[in-house]
Amino acid sequence: MLPFSKALEAILNSVCVLSSEKVSITHSLNRILAEDIKSDIDMPPCDRAVMDGYACRRADLDKELSIVEVIPAGKKPEKEIGPKQCAKIMTGAPIPKGADCVIMVEHTKKPADKTVSIFGENTNNFIRYKGEDIKTGQVVLHKGTLVKPQHIAVLASAGYTEVPVTKRPKVGIIATGDELVEPHIKPENWQLRNSNSFQLAAQFETIGAAVTYYGIAKDSIDVIDKFFKKAADECDVITLSGGVSMGDFDFGPEIFKKNNIKLLFEKIALKPGKPLVFGVKKGFYCFGIPGNPVSAFVVTELLIKPFLYKLMGHEYSPVNLKLPLAETITRKDTERLGWFPVKITSDGRVKSIDYHGSAHINSLSDADGLISMDVSIAEISKGSLVHIRLV
Ligand code: AMP
Ligand code: MG
Repeated sequence: MLPFSKALEAILNSVCVLSSEKVSITHSLNRILAEDIKSDIDMPPCDRAVMDGYACRRADLDKELSIVEVIPAGKKPEKEIGPKQCAKIMTGAPIPKGADCVIMVEHTKKPADKTVSIFGENTNNFIRYKGEDIKTGQVVLHKGTLVKPQHIAVLASAGYTEVPVTKRPKVGIIATGDELVEPHIKPENWQLRNSNSFQLAAQFETIGAAVTYYGIAKDSIDVIDKFFKKAADECDVITLSGGVSMGDFDFGPEIFKKNNIKLLFEKIALKPGKPLVFGVKKGFYCFGIPGNPVSAFVVTELLIKPFLYKLMGHEYSPVNLKLPLAETITRKDTERLGWFPVKITSDGRVKSIDYHGSAHINSLSDADGLISMDVSIAEISKGSLVHIRLV
């Protein structure tokens, strides 16, 4: 069995990053930047007021000052500030020539209509200086960045209405299993509702993939092959769920081989998620995903998510919290890297969740995250600090 780290390495090493396209800034959320983004202007482009107040010369703070003009944001100052002069200025307005500070309005009083005098301590200049945040030509966002709302503000201020991003991977989902029915059907007691396809689609869409669901294929080589060929024509990545284990009707690996896919592995030392199959053929990738929904979720989170991000040129590193374990957890099978669903308590400790194994769908609904137990480790004792991978 391939160690988990080797499997992840093999998957990531096989990736050729997808080509790029331009999308409107309003459609760039959650996409991955395909180029460095540079600013075409200084930010701020000139010295600007940070407060509503009076722009004047620091040497004059103890004098009564005459007001020579009012400068709202968006107006170019017309007058230079001389000795014993000031301009009334609003937040964001350009600082007039001659002024070296802004005194906030709260620290001023007006002895007459056209004059102002200043009191209080005024050590802060309240000026944002030209180029203080960003210089012209500076890289403001790096290639490979996953675009979040705060990046969209940076793109807008750097003048990018069209944003270069990598293309979304086209991911095809095929469910396999004679026992499966779609969710709108009430299953007979020998049947099972297809939950994986919808869970997988949601996981892939969260990452930004363009998902196509091809339906449930019966457990027959010819039927699965037909589904596979249609999906292969249309997708960059195919995920086949179920049919990748040791059963008489598990045809996943056979289908891949029949279609000249080079299999890099068929089993990994992971629990849940041992029967994971991965194969490649020149920029086309196939995953055979275990049928049980918790396994499918875990392999997608741990292996397919970093893979899809890398396909888009983004290096995914999950946020891990480190918190103490509220109770000792133990296990018997120590041959594989194990993952367990956990909850974070209101006092910041980690509790395990009632979990009966990889078919136990709703164990994940209560989980805040997953924690791992390394190969050959059978116990993590109460109070130990554990890393929680949030899900
Ligand atoms: P398999 O890998 O085909 O042997 O499937 C392992 C287990 O996962 C079996 O109990 C299947 O019924 C179940 N399973 C397979 N596919 C799905 C699916 N799409 N949704 C929910 N459970 C599934
Ligand atoms: Mg099956």
